Amino acid sequence: MQGPRWLERGMKHVWLPYSQMQTTVPPLPAISTRGRTITLADGSELTDGIASWWTACHGYNHPHIRAAVSAQLECMPHVMFGGLVNEPALTLASRLAAMLPGDLERVFFTDSGSVAVEVAMKMAIQYWLNRGRTGRTRLLAFRGGYHGDTMATMAVCDPEEGMHSLYQGALPEHFIADLPVDADSVRALDELLAQSGDSIAAIIVEPLVQGAGGMLFHSPDVLRNLRMLADRHGVLLILDEIFTGFGRTGTMFACEQAGIVPDIITLSKALTAGTMALAATVARAHVFDAFLSDDPLHALMHGPTFMANAMACACANASLDLFEREDCLGGVARIARQMRTELEPCRSLPHVVDVRVMGAIGVVELDRIHDMNALKTALVAQGVWVRPFRNIVYLTPAFNITTSELGKLTAAIRTVLAQPV
Ligand SMILES: *Cc1c(COP(=O)(O)O)cnc(C)c1O
Repeated sequence: MQGPRWLERGMKHVWLPYSQMQTTVPPLPAISTRGRTITLADGSELTDGIASWWTACHGYNHPHIRAAVSAQLECMPHVMFGGLVNEPALTLASRLAAMLPGDLERVFFTDSGSVAVEVAMKMAIQYWLNRGRTGRTRLLAFRGGYHGDTMATMAVCDPEEGMHSLYQGALPEHFIADLPVDADSVRALDELLAQSGDSIAAIIVEPLVQGAGGMLFHSPDVLRNLRMLADRHGVLLILDEIFTGFGRTGTMFACEQAGIVPDIITLSKALTAGTMALAATVARAHVFDAFLSDDPLHALMHGPTFMANAMACACANASLDLFEREDCLGGVARIARQMRTELEPCRSLPHVVDVRVMGAIGVVELDRIHDMNALKTALVAQGVWVRPFRNIVYLTPAFNITTSELGKLTAAIRTVLAQPV
């Protein structure tokens, strides 16, 4: 295919994420999106199965979101959040506080998920310092976890898996444990906290689904165990809901399924329905209160240039409108049913070791993917945009995907996995 001129010219100068630039399959030139369809420069169309890393939960170019961004662009695209506030950001903060469980009510805005996690870590560490407790500077995180790509967040990701192990020598050391999924692992974690709790500021976990770690699911009991252990040993609990937040697992937030309230929660990805970069770190009242004092150094020491961007907050408010007006969670339940039925037959295909569905997350796990590039190319040839990684092929579609669009996606996966790859 003869690509557009900007493609050839620009490809000599961009550096792609997580890509071996010598051997990677060339990226496809996308020129427009609508609903669940991505159009390429040659006019061909792909049905999107992953909603741009599960952000575009209402599909692309939703008219309500588009109108909100356009209106905000007309009157005030951005104004600094130091000394000035803006209506979309303050409205969004109060709406998030009202939606989140318990007294998660104080919102700090940033512009990416990784930074939201860094802010959560800083909040937790400074929470103890402000209360006169020194030495609590470490985090407790879990194998299989992923919390971002920046230096501080890499240090709480799974240390062994390939993405970040190279950098280990440059990272601070935190505690990395097994998730407390059964009596033995609960006991092990209990002992670790009894021994080292005095040096730990907080536990951090992705609730119900470890996303980038391979879409690994765990039961809500794990979260109840973590809440119980955090309380017993007096450490904070951070839930990283950047992947799971806003309906993806079937409830608005994953923590609702466990009936627990974390001390701090991080949100991003679907927060703006995939339209603009925005993230939030939300703290409970008691966390915020530890920062109130006569001492200026007890203030939270963080402030990104583009925090609380008015257009991004307008997007997020428009997305929340859609959650209120449309039965998005009903859409998630419908998607779950259809994926269960239509992905289940993959179980009998070569190399498939598991098929699992939670909410609008469908996963086909293989024992290995022999030729990743061939698999990606074969999926595109079926007219779908699905991006396998590690040893899984997964779907995280928009919540308003039609039955026939989703049918096309599951059929493409069945067809491609039935061929030798
Ligand atoms: C994507 C993700 C992040 C990082 O967000 P970025 O916006 O890519 O920095 C952190 N935690 C979880 C659970 C994620 O899924």
